[in-house]
Amino acid sequence: MNRRIFLGLTTALAILPLSVFAQDRLPVVASFSILGDMVSEVGGDRVAVSTLVGPDGDAHVYSPTPADAQTVAAAQVVFVNGLGFEGWLDRLIEASEYAGPVVVATAGVTALETAEEGHEAHAEGDAHAHGDAHAHGDAHAHDEVKAEGADHDHDDHAGHDHGPIDPHAWQSLANARLYVANIEAGLTAADPEGAATYAANAAAYLVEIDALEAEIKAAVAALPENRRSVVTSHDAFGYFAAAYGMTFHAPEGLSTESEVSAADVAALITQMKAEAIPAVFVENITDGRLLEQITSETGAKIGGTLFSDALSGPDGPASTYLDMMRHNTTTLTTALGE
Ligand SMILES: [Zn+2]
Repeated sequence: MNRRIFLGLTTALAILPLSVFAQDRLPVVASFSILGDMVSEVGGDRVAVSTLVGPDGDAHVYSPTPADAQTVAAAQVVFVNGLGFEGWLDRLIEASEYAGPVVVATAGVTALETAEEGHEAHAEGDAHAHGDAHAHGDAHAHDEVKAEGADHDHDDHAGHDHGPIDPHAWQSLANARLYVANIEAGLTAADPEGAATYAANAAAYLVEIDALEAEIKAAVAALPENRRSVVTSHDAFGYFAAAYGMTFHAPEGLSTESEVSAADVAALITQMKAEAIPAVFVENITDGRLLEQITSETGAKIGGTLFSDALSGPDGPASTYLDMMRHNTTTLTTALGE
């Protein structure tokens, strides 16, 4: 049954709950798990969300499968992060012959830029915001195919690193509000009859986002000033750092694609000793062995696992976006507060 017929039927049979037609929910695709959860929150029972890069997956280095092309081909809306995060996406969309809207969830976000690519990435100092108007000035979420394409101008160098733009915008709850607005607009454009549902779902979600934001700000603010500097595997927490007042160092840059050199590791160890950085945090999407080596040479402790670019599985501590943000904050503040 196509969606037009389905929408007609639901109008005619409005007293039946929509779940009766579960197989006829609006089929949408999200590029990675964190975004997929946000789309599910806003879409609710009206949408069926397929996520390409699943829990604990690394979207930086993802290789789409033929099944992904089929999933995209069957979608009515495709949601992506943008800011160069999904370097593999344009080719996937081309291969699938998908011609529908591509909603860039970061449209309107003030992108962070680092002064140099990767390594020595001091989230605090380099993360001054600037107006990234060239690709994301249009706040309308639908039909952003061109804006997404424009992002890839940064990616001239053979698909490595993202250039200086930090794609991890979801690590700030202020940005999450923009994601929600873009998702709502994208769903409403594709399914106007669901407008009221999407608006209500978004409004309820924003209440939770606001509450968690206040919680995180208070938790970080309670840390002593000299206990707010940490190390992670790759430079995924620039937006968190800027929003909540911490500093993150990482041996690897903005993308997990980059190679870590011995010199980078040595420089980081020197810096950690000089600044007495107390803890390092492994990430769910990366191999923690390098960090274990760093702790053994600095005396810093492993503070726990942060969820950077992907959710946990359903039974894990970060199976939704909000649980992820809460878990990361608790993990950081617990380790640093000791
Ligand atoms: Zn990342």
